Amino acid sequence: MDCIFCKIIEGSIPSTKVFENERVLAFKDIQPAAPVHILIIPKKHIPTMNDVKDEDADLIAELFAAARQIAKEQGIADAGYRLINNVNSDGGQVVYHLHIHLLGGQKLSTLLAN
Ligand code: 5GP
Ligand code: ZN
Repeated sequence: MDCIFCKIIEGSIPSTKVFENERVLAFKDIQPAAPVHILIIPKKHIPTMNDVKDEDADLIAELFAAARQIAKEQGIADAGYRLINNVNSDGGQVVYHLHIHLLGGQKLSTLLAN
């Protein structure tokens, strides 16, 4: 499949992983927009939030559970952070494999998307 994030999951494109379990992977964004900028993705290829099914509810909860754990590990949980999911063209989505941006490590004052 011609999907950058599926290739990162397979390992054919390298990444700096910060979290992994059976269903979820998280790695550093290649073009960080903040001191901490991590992408949290399901290993299942879901193109956008619009494609999430009711049966994916547990998987979506796991993405957020990973976000909480990573924020703690990165030492930014108490100071705060932002979770962003861009959807389709107007939302600024560039990679069509569902992902949550975890941004932090500085005061995020604007509508920082990525
Ligand atoms: P989107 O705009 O789709 O929400 O965000 C896609 C994000 O993926 C961007 O922040 C971009 O920097 C990141 N990205 C794109 N290609 C790669 C890659 O090959 N490796 C990593 N680590 N991040 C990538
Ligand atoms: Zn994919």
